[in-house]
Amino acid sequence: MLKKLYINGQWKESTTYTILYSPFTNEAIAQIPVADIDTVEEAIQSASQAKKEMANLTSLEKSKILTDLANILEQRRLEAAQIISLESAKPLKYSLAEIDRTVETYRFSAEEAKRISGETIQMDAAKNGKGRVAYTQREPLGAIAAITPFNFPFNLVAHKIGPAIASGNTIVLKPASQTPLSAYFIAELLDQTDLPKGAFNVITGKGGLIGDYLVQHDEIDMVTFTGSPEVGIGIRNKAGLKKVALELGSNAGLIIDKNVTLQKIIEPCVVGAFSNQGQVCISLQRIYVMQELMEEFIELFKKATEKLNLGDPLEAHTDISSLIHQKENERILTWIDEALSRGATLLTGGEVMNGILKPTILSNVPVDAKLSCEEIFGPVVTISSINSVDEGIEAINNSKYGLQAGIFTENIKEAFKAISALKVGGVIVNDIPTYRVDQMPYGGVKQSGNAREGIKYTIQEMTEMKLVVWNNN
Ligand code: NAP
Repeated sequence: MLKKLYINGQWKESTTYTILYSPFTNEAIAQIPVADIDTVEEAIQSASQAKKEMANLTSLEKSKILTDLANILEQRRLEAAQIISLESAKPLKYSLAEIDRTVETYRFSAEEAKRISGETIQMDAAKNGKGRVAYTQREPLGAIAAITPFNFPFNLVAHKIGPAIASGNTIVLKPASQTPLSAYFIAELLDQTDLPKGAFNVITGKGGLIGDYLVQHDEIDMVTFTGSPEVGIGIRNKAGLKKVALELGSNAGLIIDKNVTLQKIIEPCVVGAFSNQGQVCISLQRIYVMQELMEEFIELFKKATEKLNLGDPLEAHTDISSLIHQKENERILTWIDEALSRGATLLTGGEVMNGILKPTILSNVPVDAKLSCEEIFGPVVTISSINSVDEGIEAINNSKYGLQAGIFTENIKEAFKAISALKVGGVIVNDIPTYRVDQMPYGGVKQSGNAREGIKYTIQEMTEMKLVVWNNN
């Protein structure tokens, strides 16, 4: 299958192609165009020229484009999910769930397109304000470069395209090199809507080669990036004065208080730790359990983990498949070895079977071992015992990341203490830190990011406030 670039509403051949391989079978699945700098420039010019037309669309028109997109995607749900599983090895059940969320994300965007508003200002509260009327309005920034990761190739792209269209911006999308098919699929669907030509463009190629040109370009008004902290921080340093929204990684932590019924929380903990092979930015990585429940929790959690089915991502019953690249197995096994050599205990997993890293649980992992302080981004979870909720809070905060944290407790005081003391973008009470729905504000502090997604909040980032003052004197 030979794919084409999508620029200015046209499918364009490239001079160079690269082969896309399935992470699970290692078979060639498509030939992907490699954009050179001239092609990136063409995509930026196309997005730039479409700015005016996009900004002039009515709220109703923008809302309809997004509703149409959601409807077509819903009709092609299975096909879209199979693309995710094929190119990223996400098990089909999770790919289907991602498509369902993506449809919701576009529907939320269609709704938000109708309620972008400013506020009136009480001018006469100032001595010099008498007789003046003022209000603010939100205006699109212009052209937005969206750079996205491999792990949610539909929904995280939707978190950029949806709000950008809702707020009248144009887009140049650079998806992850391992997941271009999802991006081209969305281009194909958007092409069937009334979106103005040029308002959405997809270019593929190595981020390390074309990224700088895209993020430094004067006609790009904002860069919205989801991915690793290293790349995100590099982009921020290169982007100059333009707005840069970063959604980065984490090593999400969970506290389990002593009064919790463990049977109720085991299943969500297993899903939180191992869905999409742990390649989720809020994957449950560090579990802190009160000492008195430690033994029982380990027993139940291990038992449930060992029941997970390893296999082909395209099969309906598969829970765990390959990581995005085989070299990720090597990296994570090295990290496991490091923890073991420093006194950690392997409770299950820790080996690769038919190319798949088995879901792995460790205890007694030192706080400064990579498995604890770095983002694993794989099917590995650490369990530590704590003597108080305070100790759990301190352990979670002892991290360079701060995306979301969770606490299971029946004790209101402990819950409120955790809410105010945890240094993260979101605290999830009585659920895993991996919990997310798409309209909620989502983003991190510290090295986890500098912005919030969740359509309404992204629209704030993607629009400029303009003040209007009337002198009625
Ligand atoms: P990544 O390696 O940082 O890549 C993300 C995107 O950046 C890809 O499109 C990549 O292109 C591009 N890129 C690479 N180098 C670039 C450069 N120098 N300039 C511009 N763009 C460049 O991340 P990933 O491995 O795809 O995704 C995993 C990371 O994303 C994890 O850290 C995870 O926590 C984070 N994440 C965060 C969130 C959130 O909402 N906070 C959500 C999901 C994932 P190529 O593929 O061509 O290299």
